[in-house]
Formats: sequence, structure tokens, C-alpha cells
Amino acid sequence: MTIRPLPKRPAPLRDELLSSWIARLAVANYCSVQEFCGYLGLADERLPETRSELQGVNLERFGTITRLSPRAMNSMLIRRCSRFPVECISRSDFQVCSTCTNETPGVSLRHWRYAWSIACKTCCTELLPLRADPNAGDLISMGLRTRASKGAEQLKQAYRQASRHAGRRIDLTMQIIGFLSPELRHPTLFSIDVRWRLMMLEAVHHGLSHPILALAHAVRKDPAAGTRLHNAFPYRRKLLARVIRLAVSLPNYQSREVERKKDQPSALKSAGPNVASPEYLVAAKQAISQLGENAKRSDLLACAEKFLETARLHSVDIS
Ligand SMILES: [Zn+2]
Repeated sequence: MTIRPLPKRPAPLRDELLSSWIARLAVANYCSVQEFCGYLGLADERLPETRSELQGVNLERFGTITRLSPRAMNSMLIRRCSRFPVECISRSDFQVCSTCTNETPGVSLRHWRYAWSIACKTCCTELLPLRADPNAGDLISMGLRTRASKGAEQLKQAYRQASRHAGRRIDLTMQIIGFLSPELRHPTLFSIDVRWRLMMLEAVHHGLSHPILALAHAVRKDPAAGTRLHNAFPYRRKLLARVIRLAVSLPNYQSREVERKKDQPSALKSAGPNVASPEYLVAAKQAISQLGENAKRSDLLACAEKFLETARLHSVDIS
């Protein structure tokens, strides 16, 4: 039986997924997608996206029918890096470009599946979630967008590098992000809520660029995060102790106890948030006299904390 090329063959777009193009071929030739997949010899009559999903297919016959060269076909397949411990390519469409889909209905480009893709590479339009969350707020600051873009670029570079070191670094960063902010988990990279997705990429940026400082900021906002980190990484006690000291030394540090005190009735409140208790002042003076005025702020605070603890332990009036 002679195999003939398809009568109608819309050209594939640049970076179009093979699955998207086969679906468009079916529509152009007035077939159902299932029927067309069966005709092409695709297993389970499913649209293929990876090389392994083409196993058992007669590629020569496939190429004759579709007039697609093996090289062109290869460029339309998704290639996952099996050595990379974090999945960065979505298994289904989760975002689209409104400009490209208006021009070519039903099209889906390969790079739209990548966790780091924020804008369409073809037309530079911002990508939109496929099923946008109606409750998601649309006010997203430029700062968040900028930091998220940096995180996206770092993620892309690490994935392309595909080394064991790069993979472990991203994996550890994302684990820590998850421990510090349980709402920022791996699936958030593909969230239908743009704000959360950008926040996840922003967290990746902070975690990779300033790991210790990013941790300290997170612990400063939520002191319980320190305990969670200790439980999750018991073999990193020294490093975590450094993080906690840095968190305490960051400006505007407010523990939950302080927050709770603020919530108490005014009669129970202390003199005011800006008025330091005498015992704190004495501890600070002792730390300065011991370490000198030019000592690091973090060391001074840690030292003052020790004086304070000792004073309280011995129930001595240190003033
Ligand atoms: Zn586009």
C-alpha cells in the first residue's frame, strides 16, 4: 500500500511541541485527534511529547505522511534531564501566550512548559496561566517581577548546566524554601496563581544568591522556622546557629512574643516598643565593653544575649 503525504499540512511553528502540531494536523485534515494518532501508528492513540513515547512507531512512515524530517521532529520533543533532581518541565500545558494562540488556535510551544518561562520567546508577550485562579490578585510589583526573573534565569542556567552540583544546590534551596514557607513547594513553580509562582521564583533567587541572608530574613519573620530547620537539618547545627544569630541582628527584628504582646490589651503593654528595658541596655553595654565598639553588630548582639541570659539565670539585678 502506497503511503501518501497528508493533503493539508500547516507548517509547525518555531519551538512548537510535536503533540500540538499533530493535533493541528488532525484538525486541518478533518480527523479526530484519536483517529489521526491511530493512523500515524502512535501507541494508545496518544499525542507523543518525548522520544520514549515514539517507541514502536514506524518513523519512516511517520515522516512520509507528515513530511517531517527526523531532525525537525527531534526539535519538537521535550527532553527532560533525568539527572536533575527537581522537575522543571511541566507534564501538561499550564500557561499560554494569548498573542500566539490568537494567531494560531490550538498551538502550544515547548518553552511554555518550562518552570522558568515567564514571557513568550516568540513574541515577548507575558505568558498567562491556562486556568487562571479568579481569586488571584493582579497587583504584582515590579520588584517582585524583577527578582522572579532573576530566579527564573538562575533556575534555567542550573538546569542547562545539568551538573550534579547545580542539581543538588537547587534541590537543597527548594527544600529549605519549603520548610520556611510551606505554601512554597515544588508544584508552586507551575501554579495557576501568577503571584505565588513569581514568589517561588523570587525565593529561588534569594536562596541561590544570598542563602544565609535569605534564611535569616525568613527566620526573622517567623522564629518558629528556626525550629523547623533544626528538625529538618539536624546535622547543620553550627550553620543554623549562625543563621539564628544573623536573624536576631537584622534590623526591625520582632519575635512572635513581641507580636503577641502588641496584641494584648493596652494595660498590659510595656512602656512602648521603642523604649528598651534597662536590663537590655546593661547587657548591651557589657557586650560593647567586652568586644569593643567596632565589633560586628551580630557578635555584639549574641554577646549581649549571653549576658542577659546569665543575669536572668542567676536572678541577679544586673542594673
Ligand atoms: Zn507568543
